[in-house]
Amino acid sequence: MQRANWRGTLAVMQTSESAPRILIVDSHGQPVRWAVLARAARYYASGKVLTDLGENLFSMCGGVQEESGQRSEFVTSSIVMIRGRHRIPSGHAHVGLTKHRLFIRDRQICAYCGDQFHESELTVEHIVPVSRGGLHQWTNVVTACRSCNTRKGNRTPEQARMPLLYVPYAVCRNEGFILSNRRILADQMAFLQATLPKYSRWAHA
Ligand SMILES: [Zn+2]
Repeated sequence: MQRANWRGTLAVMQTSESAPRILIVDSHGQPVRWAVLARAARYYASGKVLTDLGENLFSMCGGVQEESGQRSEFVTSSIVMIRGRHRIPSGHAHVGLTKHRLFIRDRQICAYCGDQFHESELTVEHIVPVSRGGLHQWTNVVTACRSCNTRKGNRTPEQARMPLLYVPYAVCRNEGFILSNRRILADQMAFLQATLPKYSRWAHA
């Protein structure tokens, strides 16, 4: 365990529900997974950790040691680099399209009126309607509010004279890490943002 570059403050997490996820990255800086504290602890215990990259520290209390009678404590940083190179399975360069991920990709902003809405007010809008041969894929969907979706109806943006305010794009794997964690920490966000292509709406804060 390397402590030399730790510069954050220590937060003691008592329950796993309130604890943030730890961002695990490989030796090339490629994100591997979000890990709960217990899993991060296993990386440390098995000697797989190369260094800590996060600015936040989290502590988890373990069991009582029989010999000393003391409770063991484990400390991890918010971003942990582990040994080796993580291979991305072929076909996993992009993440699967879901309603929630789409709304987060588009920052919950309607592509037609430009207003921001709560998730419950939003719809998945097929730019070229499915009934006209449009595909259900990242590059043919945008976030739209209910009234804009209804107004556009079964037409293309050109036919409806409703130009798109932003361009749809396929979400890459690293952006998927941002989209899949609602309680992402500032240092984790900055780390992931630095890996994103420029067209990503999450590449800039
Ligand atoms: Zn709208």
